Amino acid sequence: MISAGIVTVSYIAATILFILALGGLSNQETARRGNWYGIAGMAIALLATVLGVVTQHYALLLGALVIGGSVGLVLARRVQMTQMPELVAILHSLVGLAAVAVGFASFMDETKTYVGIEETIHNIEIYVGILIGAVTFSGSVIAFGKLSGRIGGKPLLLPARHWLNLILLLAAIWYGREFAIHAAGGGGGMFPLAIMTVIALAFGIHMVMAIGGADMPVVVSMLNSYSGWAASATGFMLSNDLLIVTGALVGSSGAILSYIMCRAMNRKFLNVIAGGFGTGGGSTAGGGEEDGEIVAIEAVETAELLAGAKQVMIVPGYGMAVAQAQHTVYEIVKTLRAKKVDVRFGIHPVAGRMPGHMNVLLAEAKVPYDIVFEMDEINEDFPDVDVSVVIGANDIVNPSAQEVPDSPIAGMPVLEVWKGATTIVLKRSMATGYAGVQNPLFFKDNTRMLFGDAKDSLDSVLKAL
Ligand code: NDP
Repeated sequence: MISAGIVTVSYIAATILFILALGGLSNQETARRGNWYGIAGMAIALLATVLGVVTQHYALLLGALVIGGSVGLVLARRVQMTQMPELVAILHSLVGLAAVAVGFASFMDETKTYVGIEETIHNIEIYVGILIGAVTFSGSVIAFGKLSGRIGGKPLLLPARHWLNLILLLAAIWYGREFAIHAAGGGGGMFPLAIMTVIALAFGIHMVMAIGGADMPVVVSMLNSYSGWAASATGFMLSNDLLIVTGALVGSSGAILSYIMCRAMNRKFLNVIAGGFGTGGGSTAGGGEEDGEIVAIEAVETAELLAGAKQVMIVPGYGMAVAQAQHTVYEIVKTLRAKKVDVRFGIHPVAGRMPGHMNVLLAEAKVPYDIVFEMDEINEDFPDVDVSVVIGANDIVNPSAQEVPDSPIAGMPVLEVWKGATTIVLKRSMATGYAGVQNPLFFKDNTRMLFGDAKDSLDSVLKAL
């Protein structure tokens, strides 16, 4: 057991460590350190809470920790890198579920001593906490389904869906009023609370179902933000300052990330939330220009082109993650650099299936950070590039985003690889990417297709080099 003073000091230390963690994670060079700050902060927070705040039921707590910890450990060890976004989505759902559970538990807690205005405030905290928690829970479960391919990527567009959302919102407000009135004095309120929970669950499902394929990055970051607010709401219900602050940190950083993702995709946040993007209006699903010749290339020719180039730009995408080709990519980069070829990486903000996906893979392969560039930093350089190598990327290099106004990805900034002298695209087939749009890049005169699993193809290229 530790005193309340030590708990407070530990909480302040944990808060500072969480802020340092976020600061560290904003930059690749400091990300590893940031991670350690986060781990240390979480360890301190857990210890202080267990030793200082919980005064009884240690056996129950230990049991929950062992069960939860073991499930987490097994999941984290089993998950493939490509399944990471799904794991993140399902973990967000647990934060939402916890907020709902804590909300109902706080409401039913007979030992609470709030009266008058304090009671009303506590009841509002419970209501809002359950509301945010339920939206986060059901929304994240649907996002998990969409990211793992269990639910189709197409947006579900119910007729009058905006009206439906509005009605759900008004109903939630009305039941909030009912709840505040009936719960005062500890009388009732369970009925409006339960109805609101059902409404919030339905709203979460509808909101994420209505968001289309290519807009999923915004959904992932938005639910990240919601999970933070849900944790914060839980903190209010439990009068736990650390949970309030930590939740607010996650909530606001998730909101900033959503903004960055929206900007990267040239979308307005409200439009994404309202849903309906990514439908493609049926006929445009092909993105135009589907017909035309494609020219295949072999690994040996690819190696020759690369060895003869002065400037090479590598554009990785989701397929590199699937093939786990990052280590071979770096071997090729080292070989080319030894031959005095200038090699750089161009990273699109929504490449892969989660924010920063490509950066994580390249860091894992120990690619030096100074040759890895953001889209905005290098997009104007493509006319000077001799060979662009597109590794398992599709949507992020699709010219129809610029050329076809009614394409589902219209307006999304893309890496303009086609402006270089030659583009080599590594993929297994002519299949579309996440947004389900055909890519006119594959039919351009200066594009060559190197078909096959990216890892196998690159191994052959490395051998030829
Ligand atoms: P895409 O999904 O557009 O394309 C990936 C391509 O990789 C596919 O066309 C596939 O073609 C190819 N591929 C798959 N496996 C392999 C393999 N083993 N070897 C070689 N190629 C392979 O990925 P991008 O990275 O270009 O774009 C990301 C998309 O995902 C965007 O639409 C984005 O909006 C969306 N998204 C992004 C999120 C994020 O946070 N970053 C989250 C959710 C969605 P083939 O099958 O022919 O091999």
